[in-house]
Amino acid sequence: MYEYEKSLIMKACMRMKEYRLISLTGGNISLKIDDDTYIMTPSGMLYEDMEIADLCVVDHEGKLKEGFRKPTSDAAALIYIYDHMPKVRATIHTHQPYATAIGMNNDSLPACMVTLIDANHARINVAPWTKSQDIGMGKLAVEYAGDANTVIMKHHGVISFGKDLEEALYAAVYLEEAAKTYCMARIMGSVPELSDEQIADEAAGWEVYGQR
Ligand SMILES: [Zn+2]
Repeated sequence: MYEYEKSLIMKACMRMKEYRLISLTGGNISLKIDDDTYIMTPSGMLYEDMEIADLCVVDHEGKLKEGFRKPTSDAAALIYIYDHMPKVRATIHTHQPYATAIGMNNDSLPACMVTLIDANHARINVAPWTKSQDIGMGKLAVEYAGDANTVIMKHHGVISFGKDLEEALYAAVYLEEAAKTYCMARIMGSVPELSDEQIADEAAGWEVYGQR
């Protein structure tokens, strides 16, 4: 079942690799179908080896409804996010290096670049450390996301989300672009943050961008 949704996850997995957001088997992708049906990537499989049959359909308790693989070890954290952020229908968890580096010694990434605002709408907060493979990661993501589509998890990586996988992917990729640019700019000096008015102006432009 859910062949179309599964094909979207497979495509997003390849994009996540292409944009260098993960290494080896790190990270995961999930989609919410309804309150008791979620599709998730399997635990510990190389994305390039993954086939559509390897994706896991799980229920609200994280138990397999369809498939034969063990689902991602972050399943409980992801379901917590879906339970507490009703607009979220897709999540992408990565260990993207530039954004993760910023999380190690900053409390947030300032709204410093138009693409970051376009895809994430706000500055990106850094949630405190919690161990991986634990529901605590989901709790902190919900607590620290604020108005953004992304939250950086200290010493770990990033969780991005959206109404669909495209929105979550844009959030993750444009965060990494902005984080890399911010790191380079910081080497040369301080980086001013855009004002609330500039952020609102930029966000309005994004509404009519592209082929929508
Ligand atoms: Zn992780």
